[in-house]
Amino acid sequence: MQKDHLVKSITKDGMFRAYAIDATGVVAEAQKRQDTWSASSAALGRTLVGSLLLSASVLKGKETMTVQINGGGPVGTIMVDADAKGHVKGYVQNPHVHLPLNKVHKIDVGKAVGINGFMQVMKSMGGDEPYSSSVPLASGEIGDDFTYYLAQSEQIPSAVGVSVFVNDDNSIKVAGGYLIQTLPDADDKAIDRLEKRLKEIPMVSELLLSEQTPLDILNLIFGEDNLDILTDTPVEFTCSCSKKQFAKSLSRVNPAEIKKIIDEDHGAELVCHFCGARYNYDEEELKSILAVSEKRAELDAENGDSNQEPKE
Ligand SMILES: [Zn+2]
Repeated sequence: MQKDHLVKSITKDGMFRAYAIDATGVVAEAQKRQDTWSASSAALGRTLVGSLLLSASVLKGKETMTVQINGGGPVGTIMVDADAKGHVKGYVQNPHVHLPLNKVHKIDVGKAVGINGFMQVMKSMGGDEPYSSSVPLASGEIGDDFTYYLAQSEQIPSAVGVSVFVNDDNSIKVAGGYLIQTLPDADDKAIDRLEKRLKEIPMVSELLLSEQTPLDILNLIFGEDNLDILTDTPVEFTCSCSKKQFAKSLSRVNPAEIKKIIDEDHGAELVCHFCGARYNYDEEELKSILAVSEKRAELDAENGDSNQEPKE
């Protein structure tokens, strides 16, 4: 199997920017690590694909983003982190959701995600305050929701298609998608033609199943020789968590709670939601984490006191 990759292109007439991605490996990795069932796999998978496309279109350099979706459906919250370099990780709150197929015999992602909620995107430009924006969910089918977010929050008229094909044993057969942005030079006739074309072509998962590459998909939409390819870069599921990083988060917990864990359990196991890595801390390690936590609590109390002191 070819490695996952994302192709960025622009039409030669300068009217559209177009991205297509094969993210089969990314979604397969997430499915294996979290043991997701069909509806959870499709919901998480589509969000992973959409987030990779969105980050490719709006992030630069070292910027990162977190996409959070919660529509009140059985899968709960879906959370995805992505950067501008094709790295992504994500998890779904309830991995074991399987639903009957919908009217068109597809996994009922809209029902699994729900429609009573928001898609929130937090962008971190490094250093400064992160930028955050949220829009109500359009359908919970994910592709529509990314399209709506781009139009509302980024003022970029676009079309997003994301799809995941799940095997009967819950493993991932294919996953991918496209994102097309309308540029200021686009005329109404070209936009109409594109909209019509997008309705005619098979779903991305069907195209990937018949061994079409991201470039083939873009050529199918716009016609051969109508595109300038800008980049073709790999994408991958990566989690940079570590025992040290989790210890640091634990040290921010109230000292009394850490003490309770030491007294009652004599150790702790923390699990990374994203990659499933397990980190174990023995009593000695917890005691040094407790020391850091107590020190922090002390400093906080001092700062708090000095703030409250009247300046007379
Ligand atoms: Zn991890």
